[in-house]
Amino acid sequence: MWETVRLVSRGICQKAVLWDSARLVNWLQTRRLKRLVAHAKAHSPFYARRLRDLDVTSFRLQDIPPVNKTELMAHFDEVVTDRRLKLRDLEDFMSEPQRLGQWYLGQYAVSRTSGTQGVQAVIVQDRDMMELLFALQMTRGTVFPTTPWGIVSRLFRRARLAVITIGRGFYPSAAALAYAPKASRRFVKRLWLKHIEPLEEVVAQLERFRPQVLLAYANVLVLLAREALAGRLRLAELRQVINMSEPLSEGARALIQRAFGLPVTNNYALGECMALTTGCPRGRGMHLQADWAILEVVDRNYRPVPPGQPGEKVLVTNLYNTVQPFIRYEVQDVVTLSPVPCPCGSPLPLILKVEGRTDEVIWIRVGDRYQLLHPYVLVDFLDEYPPLGWYQLIQTERNRFLLRAQAAPKRTVHVEELRQVLERGLKHYHLDGVLQFDIEITDDVAPDPRSGKLRRITSRIGPPTDLAPDERILAELETSGESLRHQPSRNLENRGAA
Ligand SMILES: [Zn+2]
Repeated sequence: MWETVRLVSRGICQKAVLWDSARLVNWLQTRRLKRLVAHAKAHSPFYARRLRDLDVTSFRLQDIPPVNKTELMAHFDEVVTDRRLKLRDLEDFMSEPQRLGQWYLGQYAVSRTSGTQGVQAVIVQDRDMMELLFALQMTRGTVFPTTPWGIVSRLFRRARLAVITIGRGFYPSAAALAYAPKASRRFVKRLWLKHIEPLEEVVAQLERFRPQVLLAYANVLVLLAREALAGRLRLAELRQVINMSEPLSEGARALIQRAFGLPVTNNYALGECMALTTGCPRGRGMHLQADWAILEVVDRNYRPVPPGQPGEKVLVTNLYNTVQPFIRYEVQDVVTLSPVPCPCGSPLPLILKVEGRTDEVIWIRVGDRYQLLHPYVLVDFLDEYPPLGWYQLIQTERNRFLLRAQAAPKRTVHVEELRQVLERGLKHYHLDGVLQFDIEITDDVAPDPRSGKLRRITSRIGPPTDLAPDERILAELETSGESLRHQPSRNLENRGAA
């Protein structure tokens, strides 16, 4: 009961911030930044060293040196502000995927990024942060009414939300769902599907559930859009389609929009800062939640890049995570901020575009058809095997992959164990007997030293040349979707606001 009251009031507070001008947002940002930096310097040995000469009562953000993922993970135990948290223990905890949703030490939600660009980040958040995330989702970036009465009225008529995630275990999006406050169920009726195979079954479950909101990775939304366009999936009560976690190509956006007759709300978040943005339900961009996060768009030498121009990377400061501070955290995303405010009237800054996180598109052959392989399918089981450090998957033939594996520091990788890990994974995704693996144990898998990036999945053979017509449309949309940019109709753009 109290949790419900707290969620209502938190939701109303998060919304109320936006009723005012950007002044309140900026004021909150400054206040929370000071609090975070002071806390980090006082309780994190890593930041105490790093910010030794910084006066925490008067500083400019630019006085703080940027930090990257490799550094933060290498010094994890010193970065966190709770001395009981140890990286090795957390990794062991996460090696059992069924523990997802269990509170670590009774108080922490844990997750890790997929690390498709190299090293994985392990992330620790407390209950209060998970509650905040839900309050933000409920009141910003939604097509449902967000007036105080609108929020309360959802207790009587819960919204039906269908979520599809792929990959098991502790991915940030799965963790956000698994650790969502219990009272969130009073506001939202949720169908959470964790697989996309067999597709007919997923379609049937969705049709029975009649979701008003559909939340999934872009790849999955594309798959469902194809079903809808072919007349095999009807979701008449759908009011909002949300892409999470994955970059949304213009082609995919156009296809999904055509299939469901709704604009796609596009969220841009990092596991390290889940509250970074909410997609604008009326426009094409995303709102930076500037009261809870700072996003600096910079060039290669960390100089600010003005709105309207794409940067080379971004520096993210997470203002709500005081357990594991991310301050000026470097991420290799190419982001363009809007020079003008969003037409929807939100005082939050508008992000026009995010590029640079596209995974390679991998086609495999299943039965008599080609199928897109979701990149998480191969990495998630490998990530649950702690001895494995850097690795790369290379598609060498249509259904054959070379796994180049390097042991984590002070650990040993056993080929037989690795093969068992892969076999479990393939079975889970109904791909046993379909894909073959060669394993090479090596010590020269490493990210590019300059960019810090490692392409974990690549294809030596590219897409097939004999795709069926509907497969070819999808392939074209994925690779050269730019030509579809001008097609989305204005009517569709407006429907989501109704
Ligand atoms: Zn907007």
